[in-house]
Amino acid sequence: MHSRDAVFLEDLCPKLRVRRWRQSLHTFTHKTCIYCGKPSESIDHVLPQSRGGLSVTENCVPACLACNGRKSDADAFEWYRRQRFYDPRRAMAIRAWTDGDLRLALRLLQWASPAQAVSPAMQAA
Ligand SMILES: [Zn+2]
Repeated sequence: MHSRDAVFLEDLCPKLRVRRWRQSLHTFTHKTCIYCGKPSESIDHVLPQSRGGLSVTENCVPACLACNGRKSDADAFEWYRRQRFYDPRRAMAIRAWTDGDLRLALRLLQWASPAQAVSPAMQAA
């Protein structure tokens, strides 16, 4: 665990900051689901909260409601591997995201969806 992981946003921050944080996650993936690439409408806990998953960036990914609902409390990687839209590049992106390497995660997502525009922030990075 990195020291910054110790910030449990939902516990420490007012609601507004949590909302802004959630929005920033969506912005990272251009408001697309990290699993299937459709518009993201929710935040999915990679390790479900019911299994002790924390509400930190490393454990929270933008997801569409369908993926979020179908995945439910399953292990994200096992569940994802069984999906028709499984893409190993996206699986690697999710792994990088949970490792806290958002930059690598975004590169991999971009690779999985080359048509997706690159945000100015990422071009500068
Ligand atoms: Zn999805």
